[in-house]
Amino acid sequence: NPNRKFFVGGNFKMNGTVDMISELINHLNKAGLDGKTEVVVAPPSIYLLQVKEKLTPPAQVAAQNCYTADSGAYTGEISPSQLVDANIEWVILGHSERRSMFGDTDKFVADKTKAALANGLKVILCVGETKEEREKDITMEVNERQLEAVARTIEEKDWEHIVLAYEPVWAIGTGLVASPEQAQEVHADLRQWLGQRVSQKVADSIRIIYGGSVNGKNCKELAQQPDIDGFLVGGASLKPEFVDICKSAD
Ligand code: PEP
Repeated sequence: NPNRKFFVGGNFKMNGTVDMISELINHLNKAGLDGKTEVVVAPPSIYLLQVKEKLTPPAQVAAQNCYTADSGAYTGEISPSQLVDANIEWVILGHSERRSMFGDTDKFVADKTKAALANGLKVILCVGETKEEREKDITMEVNERQLEAVARTIEEKDWEHIVLAYEPVWAIGTGLVASPEQAQEVHADLRQWLGQRVSQKVADSIRIIYGGSVNGKNCKELAQQPDIDGFLVGGASLKPEFVDICKSAD
């Protein structure tokens, strides 16, 4: 859709070393990305400053998580204002790994989203159902519940700074990519929900990106779906083919 700039995020998760990340960023810098697609990479927090320094704009940097408070006795956490201080533009929030392993409830994700936006960060907000939930036919209920917590917590104008990532849990890191039809169906439903719950303007302008076993081979067909505005890429963002994914809408 020409009204929505294609967006590709690379989520390195807890992978990499100083040397390996330096190589990845060099590769990305040499890829000749023309700025037609918005590209954002999310290294582990210890490498954020290294990536920020080495990555050539217009590519941008995201943290993989943040806390709600600005500062204080929260050992191990990073605040939105610290990310802003380090010139980090984006933060991923609500990733399924954080929801399932680190206690990120719908409410906690919504509160983190509000805090991040209030500090001027942009947010890649992740939602998605598990395999069991899809089999029980409650895919949209689950995605709506996760989104509703955020809709209740932020204002209409805030949505401008959010990219919504639909990441079915059954597709993350499994090699089981959603079919273009499966992804398109949920993306269209999410857009419709936003139109009713938030505003038509937000529904029409928000980028809804797909995540879950996207690779250099399957990205082109997914990118052609009318409501798929980009990707959040885990495993393949650590490989040279990430560049092909960044160019999948060209
Ligand atoms: C992710 O972690 O956001 C993700 C989509 O992972 P993968 O591409 O490895 O499935």
